Amino acid sequence: MVEKTLISNLIKKAYENHTLSLAECETILESSQCDEELFYFANLTRMKFSKKEVHLKALIEISNYCKNSCFYCGLRKQNLNVKRYKLSKDEILSTAKNAINLGYKTIVLQSGESKIYNIKDMCEIISKISSFGARITLSLGEKSFDEYKAYRQAGANRYLLRIETTNKDLYKKLHPKMNQENRFLALENLQNLGYETGSGMIVGLPGQTEKMIAKDILFFKEKNFDMIGVGPFIPCQNTPLESLKAGDFTLSLKAMALIRLLMPFINIPATTAMETLHKNGRTKALKSGANVVMPAIADYKYRKDYLIYPNKATENLELKEQLLCVSSQIYKAGFCISSQNGDSMYFKNRQGKQCE
Ligand code: SAH
Repeated sequence: MVEKTLISNLIKKAYENHTLSLAECETILESSQCDEELFYFANLTRMKFSKKEVHLKALIEISNYCKNSCFYCGLRKQNLNVKRYKLSKDEILSTAKNAINLGYKTIVLQSGESKIYNIKDMCEIISKISSFGARITLSLGEKSFDEYKAYRQAGANRYLLRIETTNKDLYKKLHPKMNQENRFLALENLQNLGYETGSGMIVGLPGQTEKMIAKDILFFKEKNFDMIGVGPFIPCQNTPLESLKAGDFTLSLKAMALIRLLMPFINIPATTAMETLHKNGRTKALKSGANVVMPAIADYKYRKDYLIYPNKATENLELKEQLLCVSSQIYKAGFCISSQNGDSMYFKNRQGKQCE
């Protein structure tokens, strides 16, 4: 009873002040006494700052080639069972154009980390999509400052690069030959180049504790990111973690809700991993603070092979049909589709200040 009152007070404090200490975040994550209250206040926070609006962003998974070996990811280089693909420039542009014609205001281009597109081609793709009048988000992994700069100059607005975990040892264990410092630096470079920068984490990685998750959350707040994606770990065949248990859905949702309480102005996607692990995952996420949905829209013949994890919540639907399905899910959950361009409020406020 004492615990319940204590946690309930912490949640209300976070709702009022948008701050919590590390120990307080940890206490909330560790207890299951007030989960519904946490989700309720996260939703109240989103309603207070962004009302019922959900931003729809079209995700084009342009290639699944990857040079990395992340232990959890099905696209890792060593997985020889993946049918590798690369969309042509024309395929990317026509997919983007179709999505924009249907009303999508943001195109997200995501891929494994590789040099399969050269910088010049990528810049052409970006400037073309930009000329269609859409915002462009990239999620292509770690690149040099100059490459990020070239894409920014070509018209890219946003970049997503999850830190995955801020814990040094855990990061090292799961990302052979990668260096966490490079990832921090890449995020810093993106922010310095004026990208609206998103990061995020996987919940339920082997050896990950609530304290580590709490540290990740406070890191996101300290670094002032514009968007944070949280998804549960989903074991994937042909990876070193294939026989492990999936991450806990509720813990992922709690981490996401806490992020909403602490960062009221940012964008938070209802992630595909949540929808994959739980049949109402997207709706639950939307009702617990998420305000973005990113349907994957590349042609199904490619999309089915972007298997970062199995059973990804994606169906072979026409673009229009898919949009109808997602929209009805959003309306049924009690929200509406935003007609704005999808910039985070946090980003917009900053831009406003710079203009003053
Ligand atoms: N190459 C890009 C995109 C990676 S895929 C990059 O490095 O940013 C997008 C995200 O999928 C990853 O950042 C990771 O958080 C998530 N992901 C990969 N495998 C996963 C798994 N098995 N379970 C849950 N999430 C996973």
